[in-house]
Amino acid sequence: MAFRATILTLYPEMFPGHLGQSLAGKAMERGDWSLDTVQIREFATDRHRTVDDTPAGGGAGMVLKADVLAQAIDSVASDTRPRLLMSPRGRPLTQARVRDLATAEGVVIVCGRFEGVDQRVIDGRNLEEVSIGDYILSGGEPAALTLLDAVVRILPGVMGNAVSGINESFEHGLLEHPHYTRPQVFEDREIPAVLTSGNHAAIEKWRLEQALRLTGERRPDLLDRD
Ligand code: SAH
Repeated sequence: MAFRATILTLYPEMFPGHLGQSLAGKAMERGDWSLDTVQIREFATDRHRTVDDTPAGGGAGMVLKADVLAQAIDSVASDTRPRLLMSPRGRPLTQARVRDLATAEGVVIVCGRFEGVDQRVIDGRNLEEVSIGDYILSGGEPAALTLLDAVVRILPGVMGNAVSGINESFEHGLLEHPHYTRPQVFEDREIPAVLTSGNHAAIEKWRLEQALRLTGERRPDLLDRD
């Protein structure tokens, strides 16, 4: 069964966005994965198609209404796909979670807007909050596209060179070693000699040392993880 993504959003025209291009786009054309959108606004019941209201307790901004969003979620046929809500309060996305999601039948993703969504729909519809990092976007759409980009590229058959998924940053809990390609000399900088030595054992050793060095310098937190 091909991976199926359903996105609930106020901006369906933002999809598939960049995922319609390049390898993800070709994989979509082949039917390796699919994406459909649900316009949350269609579930508004009043004449003005209102989807947001002022926060209870006061304060700035607006909140996505629980009743409208719940109706939109309930319009998606119930199945076993994980239901995610893109949210800066969620657990930060990791490659391990991406790998896990790639083995699912697909995902249902709710994109927040405004100050966020009414807590009761998060609780009542069991949404798993997922963050893509410690910064605030104006909406969940680019976060959903980012999550899907990471998942789709590792679906079976999507990436041209299957091997190139294996060595990547985070796959072994380390940042990746540096890359070089021809020309041999670029602005007086040479490719490290070991890489052109033909000695595969030495190359592997060098790459691991570089990965450890970079991880230690830039992301020592990764070395401390189990
Ligand atoms: N007031 C909220 C931020 C709302 S931003 C707060 O301070 O937590 C509006 C919407 O953008 C959110 O509902 C969420 O869907 C999305 N969003 C913003 N930053 C995000 C992030 N880092 N990861 C995932 N989604 C994010």
